[in-house]
Parts: sequence; structure tokens; C-alpha cells
Amino acid sequence: MNSDLEQLIQLQGLDLQIRELTRQRDDFPRQTESLELETAKAEKELQDARNEMDNLRKERRSLEGEVDALRPRLSKYKDQLMAVKTNKEYTAVLHEIEGCNKEILAKEDEVLAIMEKMETLEKTIGQTQQTFSTGREACLKQQAELRRQADGVNTQIEGLLSDRNRLLRGISASSLDLYNRIADARKGVALAEARDQSCQVCHVRLRLQMFNEIRKNEHIVTCDSCNRILYYIQVGP
Ligand SMILES: [Zn+2]
Repeated sequence: MNSDLEQLIQLQGLDLQIRELTRQRDDFPRQTESLELETAKAEKELQDARNEMDNLRKERRSLEGEVDALRPRLSKYKDQLMAVKTNKEYTAVLHEIEGCNKEILAKEDEVLAIMEKMETLEKTIGQTQQTFSTGREACLKQQAELRRQADGVNTQIEGLLSDRNRLLRGISASSLDLYNRIADARKGVALAEARDQSCQVCHVRLRLQMFNEIRKNEHIVTCDSCNRILYYIQVGP
């Protein structure tokens, strides 16, 4: 077999392996994307729930302040009630007291409703916190695992690249130049097997005389259709 052709076949094998491993390695960060998104979503929900809790707390404090402000008014009216002289005055002050009481009760009801909301929200915060912590933990674990795998793949790639460099030294400059030009133009696949009198990559039928020439593997012959370097695998002994 032509020595260049033999080594180009090996080179092609190495290049395809390197390409596949590089693709795998570059795909690793994408594998954590969905988990990262889920965790970010839980974190956002947690932040929103905490903000809502803060708002409810403020609202509650403000209502309680309003109730505190109403109480002195109520006791003032109660004092007045003791000092009234006429029935008309009595009715008027009693009316004020009732109004004040109603207002206080309404605000206290609002406070109770807010406290119920806070209780529900507290549970939501607890659950979301759990989802977020679990998600983040899983995410970090997956990232560490993928980094470990990427290190392994990088070591493999380095090994293949040094094999490749060794191989390059034995290939003539013109054959290597041809290989590189075809590989660049043909998505990295510069060689094609010739079998059953056809190119196994572009499937064009080869002239018989050409096919017989290729079967000898003595010269570098390229496919008329896809320009790839053709080689033949001898079957049997
Ligand atoms: Zn072809």
C-alpha cells in the first residue's frame, strides 16, 4: 500500500475521533442549562415571596399604628360620655364611640387577614427555599461531574493530538496539503472508501478502470464527484 495513503487513513481516523471528542466536551456546559434555569427560577420565586412578605409586614405595622392612634380617641370619647349633660350630647358621643369601635374592628380584621396571608406565604417560602437549595446542590454536583468528564476527554484529545503530530512527520507535504484542502472543504472528511465500484461517501459510481486502480492502493486517486481521496479495504487473506 502507498505509504502516504496508509497514513492518511490513520490521520483521518484520528481527526474524526478528535472532532467527536471536542464536540462532546464543548457540549458539556449545555447539559447543566436546564438545571441552572430551574434553580434560577426557584431563586426568583423565593426572592418574590420574600419581597411580598416584607410588604405584608409593612402593611400590618401601618394598620396596627392606625389602630394605636384610634385608641386614645376612643378613651377621650368615653371620658366625654361621663361628662355629658343632655340626652342629645349623650347620643352624639355614643355615636362617635360606635364609629371609632367599628373602625378599630375593621382594621383588626384586616390585620388578621394579613397574618393569615403571611402564614401561607411562610410555607411557600419554606418549600421554595427547599427547591432552590436542592436544585443548587444538584447543579453544583452535575457541574463538578461534567468538569471531571471534560478533564478526561481533554486528556484523550491531547493523546490523540500527539499521535497525530507523530503521524504527520511521515506524510509527504503534497499529500498532506491535499488532505488538508479536501478536509477543509468537506467538513473534515477528506477520505472515502471505494467499495462495490462506488465512492462510499458521495455514492457516485466509479469507472471500472479507475476502481481497479484504486483497489491496488498504490496511488492517491480522488473521487471525480466529491474530490475525496479514495482507498480500498482488501477483504480476505
Ligand atoms: Zn465521492
